[in-house]
Amino acid sequence: MKASQFFISTLKEAPADAEVVSHKLMMRAGMIKRLGAGIYNYMPMGLRVIRKVERIIREEMERAGAVELLMPVVQPAELWQETGRFDKMGPELMRVKDRHDRDFIIQPTSEEVVTDIARQELRSYKQLPKNFYHIQTKFRDERRPRFGVMRGREFTMKDAYSFDRDPAGAAKSYEAMFAAYKRIFDRFGLTYRAVAADTGAIGGDLSHEFQVIAKTGEDAIIYCPTSDYAANIELAEALAPATPRAEPTQPLAKTLTPGKSTCADVAEFLGLPLTRSLKSLVLATDTLDDQGHPVGSTVWLLLLRGDHEMNEVKVGKVPGLKEGFRFATLAEIDEHFGCKPGYLGPLGLKKPVKIIADRTVAAMSDFCCGANEADYHLTGVNWGRDLPEPDLVADLRNVVEGDPSPDGKGVLAIERGIEVGHVFYLGTKYSKAMNATFLDETGKPALMEMGCYGIGVTRILGAAIEQNHDARGIIWPASIAPFQAVVCPIGMDRSDAVKEAAVRLYEELSAAGVDVLLDDRGERPGAMFADWELVGVPVRVVVSDRGLKEGLLEVQGRRDAEASKVALAEVGAFVK
Ligand code: ATP
Ligand code: MG
Ligand code: MG
Ligand code: MG
Repeated sequence: MKASQFFISTLKEAPADAEVVSHKLMMRAGMIKRLGAGIYNYMPMGLRVIRKVERIIREEMERAGAVELLMPVVQPAELWQETGRFDKMGPELMRVKDRHDRDFIIQPTSEEVVTDIARQELRSYKQLPKNFYHIQTKFRDERRPRFGVMRGREFTMKDAYSFDRDPAGAAKSYEAMFAAYKRIFDRFGLTYRAVAADTGAIGGDLSHEFQVIAKTGEDAIIYCPTSDYAANIELAEALAPATPRAEPTQPLAKTLTPGKSTCADVAEFLGLPLTRSLKSLVLATDTLDDQGHPVGSTVWLLLLRGDHEMNEVKVGKVPGLKEGFRFATLAEIDEHFGCKPGYLGPLGLKKPVKIIADRTVAAMSDFCCGANEADYHLTGVNWGRDLPEPDLVADLRNVVEGDPSPDGKGVLAIERGIEVGHVFYLGTKYSKAMNATFLDETGKPALMEMGCYGIGVTRILGAAIEQNHDARGIIWPASIAPFQAVVCPIGMDRSDAVKEAAVRLYEELSAAGVDVLLDDRGERPGAMFADWELVGVPVRVVVSDRGLKEGLLEVQGRRDAEASKVALAEVGAFVK
């Protein structure tokens, strides 16, 4: 590729709305261009990275035996009504109507459609196992799109779905995907951790998130540095014994006035620190008064993690109960919701929480001043605008750094991560709802055992940059860099020797299969080098008259402090 034919558009300053380094650098490097909140154009430079990410994913999915198909972005509501998700899923699900007033959704994921395909196409045990995947545009109307492609509303996901005859087969499919994910993230050259996540009502231990380690990550990971134990915050918190922590002791500050009290007042009233969790607090109770306000002696306090509104519910025990309220223990909440002891899985909780929350959301809205959005709970605070962004880790209650690890092999540590992939054993949740059966060896219909496996293709770009950058710009891992190398001729318009050598090098490298760009824009060296350091191309080759006199070129890796002088014939070895 020649720069004069390609499209390069770099910026000195990042736009004001870019909060994290990856967002800033992707904007400055001209990789993405904002079209609306959480909606981006993938510009030519960014698209090259996306395509490389996709290629690695495809290769590893096929190696693991998955088959590619492509399911539509716009999907009829009827399928989503079969599983109940059309109604149950919150406002993250984008619902649209066609000209005949028929309901459709824009897919946030594709379980319904793939299960519909499977129930029609996979009729016999002989056709199983099967794993279908696609790489397709997703839309989730995220409450808080931010960080550029990391939490977009429109984004690209690879989602795969396995179909098996029985749980043992499904476990094998899961293992195959888990192994494929490790190969994929290894090939991306990222530092990551696979952490256990909750499988909710399905039970079992077959759900893992792949988390790229980064200080700016929205998730917290609990792990043990001296063993294999690693879990996401929700699972670790839910399974940890509710260790009593220091209880706030200050006296009841004030009473709450429906419609007037702010969430800071509510926090004070409840004796809670105003943390991130509290932004989505639901007070749930069995008993409401005529106006729908919670009354009675037992108040269930559920902390719903706002960003995980679709299917992840966090439940926490909060000490420091004030007059007239008693906070339930985790065991009591388990019992109340009919979960197995010590287990507060999101799916298991979903139904009762929703019912109770629906009634109490209104009550809480009355308690808190006007800023509540419908469907949301305790708000009125815009983190980052009204208050400093609270530390996610500081919210942890049952798990604290230094606690003994559940496997007894050390102590717990906490770090932040970016969820780039998720593998999940689904069991018969969807096959049952949609009656996806096959005929087993005895000729009897049986439900398919399913698994689903997602990778945030576009999120990978942000995660890779969070992990790999410096003051000058992005440092792409070689496997996903937009170009592997850039040839920078100095004074190409003045020197025929430089021009000829640069073009020849460019052609030779291209012929050898190197994804190389020739910067023939005629920029001055300073501007040219600054651009490629910002864009993050792993290797730069400088062709100059001075070097050519000695038969040498200057080759510099993006992380190198200095260039190496390399003989013309040997450049290929440096670049590959
Ligand atoms: P999160 O917890 O970050 O909201 P999720 O658990 O809702 O993600 P999944 O349903 O597990 O996401 O989807 C599979 C993958 O899709 C995620 O692991 C993530 O990499 C990616 N993904 C999810 N939401 C977004 C988004 N809004 N923007 C970009 N990528 C996303
Ligand atoms: Mg998640
Ligand atoms: Mg989500
Ligand atoms: Mg997930």
